[in-house]
Amino acid sequence: MPNDNYNSSPLEWVEAYLAENTLQAHCIKGLLATQGIDAKLHGEALMGAVGEIPIDACYIKLMVKVEDKEVTETVLKHYEQALKNNPLDWFCHQCGENNATTFDLCWHCGHDPLHTTL
Ligand SMILES: [Zn+2]
Repeated sequence: MPNDNYNSSPLEWVEAYLAENTLQAHCIKGLLATQGIDAKLHGEALMGAVGEIPIDACYIKLMVKVEDKEVTETVLKHYEQALKNNPLDWFCHQCGENNATTFDLCWHCGHDPLHTTL
């Protein structure tokens, strides 16, 4: 069924989120990865030299494919809601679970966030 005539560009990337820093950008990227969504970070290259530029000096654009936009928005809504309820909570890079700030390891999969290589 060739239906890509009107579907101009299924691989087009759209901006899904504006992250405040590298950490947040990677956190969301990891979250999306647990949902099978491939995200790209724009602006990160500017911060290549860690330590030279303040971590909050620029924003990082999170890009996703158009086809993933809807799921991405759901994931982000969940993320922002949890963030609002518990600002110090953290998300597991491995399984995407939301962890209370008092947990050192992910309660769900036992992942240690401090040993994550960004
Ligand atoms: Zn986990």
